[in-house]
Amino acid sequence: MTAEQVTSVLAGLGAVRPWQEDFYRDLHSHPELSHQETRTAANVVALLRQAGSVVHEQVGGTGVVGVLANGEGPTVLLRADMDALPVREATGLAYASTTVATDADGGEVPVMHACGHDVHVACLLGAVALLAAARDAWSGTAVAVFQPAEEVADGAAGMLADGLESLVGRPQVALCQHVLPLPAGVVATRVGPTLSAADSMRITVHGRGAHGSMPHASIDPVVLAAMIVVRLQTVISRETQPGEPAVLTVGSIQAGTKSNVIPGHAVIALNVRSYHETTRAAILEAIRRIVTAECTASACPRPPDFELFDRFPLTDNDREATESVADAFRSHFGANAAELPLQTASEDFSDIPNALGIPYTYWGIGGVDPDTYERARAAHRIAQDIPVNHSATFAPVLQPTLDTGTTALVVAALAWLGHT
Ligand code: ZN
Ligand code: ZN
Repeated sequence: MTAEQVTSVLAGLGAVRPWQEDFYRDLHSHPELSHQETRTAANVVALLRQAGSVVHEQVGGTGVVGVLANGEGPTVLLRADMDALPVREATGLAYASTTVATDADGGEVPVMHACGHDVHVACLLGAVALLAAARDAWSGTAVAVFQPAEEVADGAAGMLADGLESLVGRPQVALCQHVLPLPAGVVATRVGPTLSAADSMRITVHGRGAHGSMPHASIDPVVLAAMIVVRLQTVISRETQPGEPAVLTVGSIQAGTKSNVIPGHAVIALNVRSYHETTRAAILEAIRRIVTAECTASACPRPPDFELFDRFPLTDNDREATESVADAFRSHFGANAAELPLQTASEDFSDIPNALGIPYTYWGIGGVDPDTYERARAAHRIAQDIPVNHSATFAPVLQPTLDTGTTALVVAALAWLGHT
């Protein structure tokens, strides 16, 4: 890649910006829940076709793949997620969402692009348009993957199960970005574990119900569940290596209906975050061991039931791929190229490169007005004053967020596509 190649492709940014901003505002005000991204997908398809991509629709439900072939050379996969969240928007933006939709459980919920996936879609469409308009400056194939249902952790798996591999082959690298509560204009990369693996587990322990006045006739699942919750606190504090980040949170504990009835069972729901597969396996095993042993200690009539759900893979950025992108970012963005801190959030993007057997890197872009961010930083109030993803007031500034995200995708892709 040369600076001239980057300059040639980015020369089209002024022509892209007007329609891209309109597209973004429209998408922001028309968010769609996971697996319901039909309007978004239709608009993506139209713009990919305009750019001359070969388009595959309905890949894993609402997923879209755009293949922009430009002669011999490497293939780069770029991924954007399309879904929104059941959050009632409170940003006060002129283009705020007032959308209400029916969720997977049949309930009416407000919908908002509270995670910024609208930014990702707009930026990737912009990047494809720029590459399409400057075919002389690069060669190879740019594959744009628009994925549904990131928020429920099964959109990437759904596209893979529906034949994504046969559409994209084996690219040299997979690239992905997320807008984060960092100053707009900033691009931030990280080598190695970057986003946590996440596992949710539902545990049902079986006791024996009885009258509240006759505890000797019961096996009390309330006391049992309480012991389990306390004992689980030792998994991170006593079993994982000091300095190894991990989280185990019991978010829900349900048992009984009345003060004088000992119920027959209790249900515990917990969430685990980890950054290495060995740590992840050890924590999940420790939970099973402790719960099973506590049930034995209580003389439960049958063993506990374990159900894992909402599982996100570890995002573990490939060193070589990340260093290529980081070098390209430093050349182009200068002081705005930063290191991304370890993130506690999770993503299903890595399911795609893991299934294809290819390296990947995932970076962050800022979405906060730089002056607002600097005021909060100076006052030590970043956590209080800067809305984070998934909050009702998460509102990335239009610019320089879109320019930065679009440019970052182009610069990163050209680190491979520029080698003609
Ligand atoms: Zn999210
Ligand atoms: Zn997200």
